[in-house]
Amino acid sequence: TYVVTENCIACKYTDCVEVCPVDCFYEGENMLVIHPDECIDCGVCEPECPADAIRPDTEPDMEKWVEFNRKYSELW
Ligand code: SF4
Repeated sequence: TYVVTENCIACKYTDCVEVCPVDCFYEGENMLVIHPDECIDCGVCEPECPADAIRPDTEPDMEKWVEFNRKYSELW
């Protein structure tokens, strides 16, 4: 899965949401999040993010961000 990280806070762009083929972005408290079970790992959102906030969960220390993204996407 891909996850949204802290660089998203205060970002005003929603280019990522527009390109996602499965609509798995959700609004968190002050940033967007990706539902980790709905993301199909296509990667098209990553280069669209001007804040470099979207990262693959295969990078180091992403566990807390996966849980954060899950928590806020499941509020909907
Ligand atoms: Fe959506 Fe693909 Fe980004 Fe996952 S990797 S959030 S499916 S655009």
